[in-house]
Amino acid sequence: MISKKLEDAINYQINRELFSEYYYLSMASYFNSVGLSGFENFFLVQVEEERFHAMKMYKFLNEKGGKVTLQAIEEPTTEFQSPLEVFKLAYTHEKLVSKLINELMDLAIKENDHAAKNHLNWFVDEQVEEEDSMDTIVNKLKLIDGEGYGLLMLDKELGQRIFTPPAK
Ligand code: MG
Repeated sequence: MISKKLEDAINYQINRELFSEYYYLSMASYFNSVGLSGFENFFLVQVEEERFHAMKMYKFLNEKGGKVTLQAIEEPTTEFQSPLEVFKLAYTHEKLVSKLINELMDLAIKENDHAAKNHLNWFVDEQVEEEDSMDTIVNKLKLIDGEGYGLLMLDKELGQRIFTPPAK
């Protein structure tokens, strides 16, 4: 069993993870349009991660006897000015997602739902990585400061990223 409040909150989180998928796909498309295929690859991998997050929540809610109810996903930003702007937006977005996960955890604690707390622990850890990954690239882009060679080096590095689904 799961409380109605937690069911609603997890449904909202599924929507936020699917929005993240959409948002990062929009960022991937921007990088495609400016010819930075490594940066595009980084966001295409991120898209898969976000789908994985949504599906992990989907599976948990179903297993707990709740009902997954999908909601509308809003239109993401489609115009970006620079790689640095994109990564600053992605970092800000991940900080917001961390806040949502923390609020979900607060609710699970309030509802005394130990299974939900265990489930959310994975997301708490995951968000530390997500924030760090975006922040690291923001810092590299600041160092590069729009310089072509540095940008191409980073593009090559980000082209190596592959999606590895976590074991559980
Ligand atoms: Mg996510």
